[in-house]
Amino acid sequence: MTEELEKNVTSIRGIGEETASMLATMGIHTVEDLLTYYPFRFEDQRLKDLAEVDHDEKVTVEGSVMSAPSLTFYGRNKSRLAVRVMVGSYLVTAVFFNRPYLKKKLQLNTIVTLSGKWNRHRQQIIVNEVKFGKANHVHMTEFQPFYSVKGDLTSKGIHRFIRLALTQYFHAIEETIPTFLLEKYRLLPRKEAIRAIHFPKNAEEIKQARRRLVYEEFLQFQLKIQALRKIEREKSAGAALSFKNEPLKMMIQSLPFPLTTAQKRVLKEILYDLRSPYRMNRLLQGDVGSGKTVVAAIALFATALSGYQGALMVPTEILAEQHAESIEKLLSPFSVEIALLTGSVKGKRRKEIQAGLEDGRIQIIIGTHALIQEDIQFSNLGLVITDEQHRFGVEQRRILREKGVNPNTLIMTATPIPRTLAITAFGELDISVIDEMPAGRKRVKTYWAKPEMLEQVLSMMERELKKGRQAYVICPLIEESEKLDVQNAIDVHASLVQFFRHRFKIGLMHGRLSPEEKEAVMRDFSENNVHVLVSTTVVEVGVNVPNASMMVIYDAERFGLAQLHQLRGRVGRGNHQSYCILLADPKSETGKERMRIMTETYDGFLLSEKDLKLRGPGDFFGKKQSGLPDFKIADMVHDYRALEVARKDAEMFIQSDEFWTKDEFSRLRRQVEQSGILDGKKLD
Ligand code: ADP
Ligand code: MG
Repeated sequence: MTEELEKNVTSIRGIGEETASMLATMGIHTVEDLLTYYPFRFEDQRLKDLAEVDHDEKVTVEGSVMSAPSLTFYGRNKSRLAVRVMVGSYLVTAVFFNRPYLKKKLQLNTIVTLSGKWNRHRQQIIVNEVKFGKANHVHMTEFQPFYSVKGDLTSKGIHRFIRLALTQYFHAIEETIPTFLLEKYRLLPRKEAIRAIHFPKNAEEIKQARRRLVYEEFLQFQLKIQALRKIEREKSAGAALSFKNEPLKMMIQSLPFPLTTAQKRVLKEILYDLRSPYRMNRLLQGDVGSGKTVVAAIALFATALSGYQGALMVPTEILAEQHAESIEKLLSPFSVEIALLTGSVKGKRRKEIQAGLEDGRIQIIIGTHALIQEDIQFSNLGLVITDEQHRFGVEQRRILREKGVNPNTLIMTATPIPRTLAITAFGELDISVIDEMPAGRKRVKTYWAKPEMLEQVLSMMERELKKGRQAYVICPLIEESEKLDVQNAIDVHASLVQFFRHRFKIGLMHGRLSPEEKEAVMRDFSENNVHVLVSTTVVEVGVNVPNASMMVIYDAERFGLAQLHQLRGRVGRGNHQSYCILLADPKSETGKERMRIMTETYDGFLLSEKDLKLRGPGDFFGKKQSGLPDFKIADMVHDYRALEVARKDAEMFIQSDEFWTKDEFSRLRRQVEQSGILDGKKLD
């Protein structure tokens, strides 16, 4: 960026303090900000033959007035003006709302150019914009850009400011991308691209301008990510763990099952990282039930063997307890000191654990965010594993990590993240994937049922219960309102108690129960004293009751696909054929499509790709903590090919000497330097 473009927008002739302060509310401060404030869509205002235009499509046509206009008033100050217009060989009705003053101007035989929405059935155009005269005489932009705006600003206003900025500063726009890359990918020069994205001459120009700007944006982003990755690796000397293979082998042989090939592969990657002098920074992805816990247990065991402490942090108490139990079981023959720390561990026990962590006696600690409280200190933390990470903030991970000297970090997630998102949101991480299920797993047969079919669904449940199986019933999710979620669960519970009266026991689980109550319910369910567990989504993460063979999800359309898949993963954990019933009556096509996808797709990765396409990246992780950058023009889903290319290029450049020395990289290099990453600053 040249200094000239870093000037405040007030330096643009025609933009004063008042406009500048309005622009500032949209994050536009400098000339550069304004020039890179890109339109989010374009409207095609080329003249079209109406025969080719679909119903409800926007259209611009030219024609001559064929009738006297008729004006009717209705409501308070509302009016409708209609006139017949000959467009090519079509006689159509042009309708103008609330513009009575146009009546005088719409004289017989007047030539008009109309833009608006085409109603094919009624042969009407609802007019937004009218120009008097032929289209080519009235200087209409063929492609009108639209900008998102705030306050009193209009899209047209922004467009005008950008025109002013371009007039004055066009010459000062400098190239950021080295010539050899522009040639390699046949990209427009920056000047041209910026001009064309705001003032395109035709559709091809928009495409080419976008292509160039998207690549630039991805490249700049990936360069920062790759620089961060390089720095993290280089400065992470120190914690090379050393442990023998023998006890590890013994432990693996003592497992009740052989590891899958995928488990072995990721384990090898993890153990290699632990032994290397670099700090591990790795994302472990694996579908629900793919067996991540045992991999975590082995990594924690290896850490303990080498004299370091390992921590496993999970988002809920139930999950912490289950993990602690299963890891204790796996490691019980090997005399490893394991402890559980959650919010409900208090008083004397908490003090003991605190002391044990501080003096290093406790080798493996499993817990919730209680692990990152200030009064918890470690003796020598060597490995931090977080499970189901998308529920944790980046900040929490950082706090835990900083409790040790460069501990190795493993982030486990059961929400398979599509690769495009993974390399964007977690670009600085290495990625391991368990892409194989343990042998003998039966897929959970999934059906979509309308709410009217509840009775049949309940009879099906009764059949399962009579066979000795158990069932989950997941209650409607009401966004942002835990209270309503709880009420729903209570209602559903009451009706099931009624339905299964004297035959089966129905338990109730929701977020308002105390930790003790939750535990009691979970224990009852896992010991089969309760046969049906009615629950809000608290079971979503990780509980393991292999005897459960059926799940019914109310209002399934309210859940994301990834979340439904997570929920579904609670059944089918034993040897029994299992079922998942989605009770849903979605109104929209997308909603129906999502239910169909759930009944057809069992691969979590495939599912998440589809979910991403349907919902877009913003919704994928939920509202906050997405970890995703706001791109100005690029779209991770739509432009994933460009993202892959930019990532490869960035990785290569960051490793090369040329990037750090040659002139042609100077602008890209400066951006990396200015981001502060090289001085140890994290990406936001
Ligand atoms: P997740 O990846 O969802 O955390 P878990 O680690 O909870 O999966 O494993 C799910 C179930 O599969 C557990 O009961 C676990 O004991 C079992 N399991 C894990 N690995 C294997 C394997 N290689 N063969 C058979 N069962 C396995
Ligand atoms: Mg798990």
